[in-house]
Amino acid sequence: MQDYPLTLVNIFNRMERLYPDHTVVTGGPKPSKYTYGEVCERTRRLATALDTLGIAPEARVASFCWNHVQHLELYYAVPCTNRVLHTLNIRLFPEQITYIANHAEDEAIFVDRSLLPMLLPLIDTFEKVTKYVVIDDIPEGADGPEIPDDDRFYDYEELIAAAEPGELWCDDENQAAALCYTSGTTGNPKGVLYSHRSMWLHGSAGTSTAGIAVKPTDTVMPVVPMFHANAWGFIHSAPMVGANLVLPASDMTPQGLAQLIVDQSVTLAGGVPTIWQGIAALFGEYDFSKLDRILCGGSAVPAGLITRWLTQDVLVWQAWGMTETNPVASGANIDPRDLGKSEEELLPLRARAGTSFPGIEFRIVEPDTTNELPWDDETTGDLQVRGPWVAQDYYKPDAGVVLNTEDGWMSTGDVAAIDPYGSIRIADRTKDLVKSGGEWISSVDIENILMSHPDIREAAVVAIPHPKWDERPLACVVLEPGKSMTKDEVLGYLDGKIAKWWMPDGVEFIDEVPKTSVGKMSKKDLRDRFADYSAT
Ligand code: ADP
Repeated sequence: MQDYPLTLVNIFNRMERLYPDHTVVTGGPKPSKYTYGEVCERTRRLATALDTLGIAPEARVASFCWNHVQHLELYYAVPCTNRVLHTLNIRLFPEQITYIANHAEDEAIFVDRSLLPMLLPLIDTFEKVTKYVVIDDIPEGADGPEIPDDDRFYDYEELIAAAEPGELWCDDENQAAALCYTSGTTGNPKGVLYSHRSMWLHGSAGTSTAGIAVKPTDTVMPVVPMFHANAWGFIHSAPMVGANLVLPASDMTPQGLAQLIVDQSVTLAGGVPTIWQGIAALFGEYDFSKLDRILCGGSAVPAGLITRWLTQDVLVWQAWGMTETNPVASGANIDPRDLGKSEEELLPLRARAGTSFPGIEFRIVEPDTTNELPWDDETTGDLQVRGPWVAQDYYKPDAGVVLNTEDGWMSTGDVAAIDPYGSIRIADRTKDLVKSGGEWISSVDIENILMSHPDIREAAVVAIPHPKWDERPLACVVLEPGKSMTKDEVLGYLDGKIAKWWMPDGVEFIDEVPKTSVGKMSKKDLRDRFADYSAT
C-alpha cells in the first residue's frame, strides 16, 4: 500500500474541492456567513500572512478566541504551514495563561478584540510573544475595547486582504499540529501536543457510525469551545464530509444558542451537560424539531438530562474523553443485543461512557498495578486507555510526571467498571471518589439519581472529612427556580435507590454548582467550602 500521510491538508483539500458551496456561519454580535470555498481562499491568504509576519517554521502560534470562522481558518493555516496552533483557554486565571503561553513558547497570539481586556494586562509577562493579531469581533459602530497603537499589533482582516493565497502542505503525518493544555486541577497545566495523524484519525472517527456519525447533510454546531480539546473534533469531522458549520462566537447564553439552533436549522450540536441543562429550561419557547442529536460529555451526563431532551425528540449521545485522548475515545452506542428495547430500557445504557471507538482500547486495573480486572460491570478499577490518538507523554513534562505505564497504557485518572460487552461506566474521577471506611462511594451515581428528580436542577456529591469513616458524602443540591424541598425529602428520594451506607451524611442547598473553565462541575471548590462541615 502507499505510504500516504494522514494530515490536515487532506481535510483542507476535501473542503476546497468537494464542498466549496457548503457553509460556515458565525453567530454572536458580528455574524457572518462564508462558503467553504471562501474559507479556503481566506485560509490560503492567512498561510501567506503567517510568512509575511515572519513567524518561524515550527513556531507555536496561539489563539485567544471564541468559536468563529477566523478560528477555523487558524485551525488549518497554522498546522498546514509547518507551525503549531496553541489554543489558549480564555477562561483560565491570568497566572495560568502566562504560565501556559511561556511554557509553550508562543511567538504570536491571535486574539479577539472583545477579549483584549483579558490579554492586554498580561502582555509584559509573555516571554516570547512578539506579534498580536486582532480579530475584530465587535460590530461596526458599537463600543469595544481599544486596539493599542503599537507596532506589535496587526489587524486580521487587513493582513489576509493584503496577502496572496499560499500553499498548504505537510508531508509528515507525525508532525505536531496543535497544542492544548489540560485545565490543571492538580499541579501545573499540562500540554498535550497532537500530531496531524492523531487529529485526522480522531476527526474521521467522528464521521463514523461508531462515533457521532457527522454526515454531509448535517449542520453542526460545536458549542464546546475551540480552545478546549480541539472542540471535540467537530472542526475536522464536519469539513471532512462537507457538513455545514455553525459557530456561536461570544454569545453563549442559553437564549442565544437556542436562537442560533433554530435560525440555522442545526441538526447536530456538541457541548458539556451544563449547556444543555440551561437550554432545556427554555423548552416550549423554541422549536427544536430540526435538531436531531447532541454530543454530550466532558463530565457524566445525567440520565435525567437525556430524558428531558427526548421529550423534544433529540438524542443526547454521551461520549467520554480527555484532553490527553484528542479528546473523544468512546461513545454510548447501542449494541445489537439492545435493539427493540424501549427508550426507558435504553436509558441506563445511554447514561454510560459507552464503547471504545475502533483503534482505541480500554482496560481496568487494580490501582498502581497492571493487573487487569474483569469486565463484569461490578468490579471497579483504574481506567486505562491506548490507541493512535492517545498521548504518550505530556509536552515538556514537569519532572516526575509520567503519563503512560511501562506496558504502554495511559492512566485516565477515572475509576470505572466495564460490562461484558465493553461498555464503560465511569464511577468517578479518582480525586472525586468518596472513601468511607476504606470502601469507595461513587459520587457520580448519587448525583445521577438526585438529578433525575424533577425539582433538582443540579447536584454535586463531595467528600467531607469524618472522624470515624475518614470521609462521608455530602450532597450539594441546586433546586429548580421556585421549587422547595427539605433535606429529608432529598434523602428520602435516594432511599432504596442506593446502598444504605452510601446515604449522604448531609444535604446542603446551594445557589449554583461552581464550574471549571470549561463549564464542568468544580468539586474542588465545594470540598474547600464544606471542609469543616458537620452534619446536624
Ligand atoms: P479537565 O476536566 O481536567 O480539564 P478534560 O477536559 O480533559 O480535563 O477532562 C477529562 C475528564 O473528564 C475525564 O478524565 C473524566 O473524568 C471526565 N469525563 C469526560 N467525559 C466524561 C463522561 N462521559 N462521563 C464521565 N466523566 C467524563
